[in-house]
Amino acid sequence: MTDAKTEEKPLVRKIESRRAMAKAMGEYFGEIFEAAREGSPKIAWCTSVGPAELLVACGFRVYFPENHGAMLGATRMATDLIPLANAVGYSPEICSYLTSDVGSFLKGETPMAKMPGYEFPKPDVLIYNTNQCRDVKDWMSYYQKHFDVPMYGVNTPVNITEVTEDHVDVAAKQIEAMVEPLCEITGVKFDYDLFKEKVSLSRELSEKWKTVLETASAVPSPINFFDSTIHMGPAVVMRGSTRAIDYYNLLLEELNTCIETGTGSIEDEKYRIYWDGMPIWGKLKSHSEHFASLKTCVVASTYCNSWIFDAFDADDPFKSMARAYTELFIVRSDAWKETYMQRMFDLYKIDGIIYHDAKTCPANSNNRYGMPDRLQKDSGLPYIIIQGDLNDMRCYSEEQTRTNIEAFIEQLAEK
Ligand code: SF4
Repeated sequence: MTDAKTEEKPLVRKIESRRAMAKAMGEYFGEIFEAAREGSPKIAWCTSVGPAELLVACGFRVYFPENHGAMLGATRMATDLIPLANAVGYSPEICSYLTSDVGSFLKGETPMAKMPGYEFPKPDVLIYNTNQCRDVKDWMSYYQKHFDVPMYGVNTPVNITEVTEDHVDVAAKQIEAMVEPLCEITGVKFDYDLFKEKVSLSRELSEKWKTVLETASAVPSPINFFDSTIHMGPAVVMRGSTRAIDYYNLLLEELNTCIETGTGSIEDEKYRIYWDGMPIWGKLKSHSEHFASLKTCVVASTYCNSWIFDAFDADDPFKSMARAYTELFIVRSDAWKETYMQRMFDLYKIDGIIYHDAKTCPANSNNRYGMPDRLQKDSGLPYIIIQGDLNDMRCYSEEQTRTNIEAFIEQLAEK
């Protein structure tokens, strides 16, 4: 007799390369924990779109608190930890990555504790780039006071339509100014050629990640947004190394085979959605399955595309890095964002758009200043806005969101 359960086909195809990704991420964290244990190499905490390549070239192991924030969201630890940060004066209205990370620190609870060889990665230096928001600087400032270690940063102009040489120069000078103090901390002599090599590796990594994302332009798409949020981990934390490049080569092989065999991420894909804004980390699996049950694949997103850096150029490492980190979607004006999104709607053959209005992340909630209506007028694509948050589940109503999504897909079906 056959077990009926074993015959049930999952709604969403599981990415086979996921074990290789877990291994690569495990090795990355293992190196950080080892450095924490041994006191060498030195550890830098860096905001997600900070100058990671420079830190690697200066000899640091680089730890990303936002990656930890996402882990707290995905493991659903965040909602219980946020009030601890609120109690020391950080409002429930500000970035819930920040508040859940600070809460985790105050309580001494972290999902990393379950990883082999865990050791808290105390920072030797804190590095930020305000290209994404001011919260990242406040976040690092909290730890600067606590650990009494140096903090350096890039203050990037925001709301830019065209990135000019002046914008790039402003950022490049701030990155260059970090070299001396950073090398003083690690005791390493700055090696310009090594820095160029790290920038070149990040360029290659970025190209691979872009190719992974663009496989979703195939019909049916071999990957969905919810998988991509997990599989982008190496692109975020392993810049300037070969490990992530190797992983994406493997993932690409799998996705290209799916395209050749017509295997979609979901069964019987009928509708294709663009997701704007942050993921709701605690709901990735249920969202993925809900959309699949509606024969809908969320194929593309602003969030995952934010780790594509076309500007990296090893021949001009400081300036190209400054340009890459200033050209980001989040830095740009609505006019630029709308042109960019129209291109994505065409590339990914989009049927409708979902805007996630994340309560604690205005910087990544693009629905608040008329963009959805303007883009609907220009593209003819329908949209809905869902209310929620990246980490704080108190801002999210499961029932209301499911009803709204179902009504939206019905609307697409009628169209
Ligand atoms: S962009 Fe949003 S999620 Fe990211 S650090 Fe800033 S407020 Fe937090």
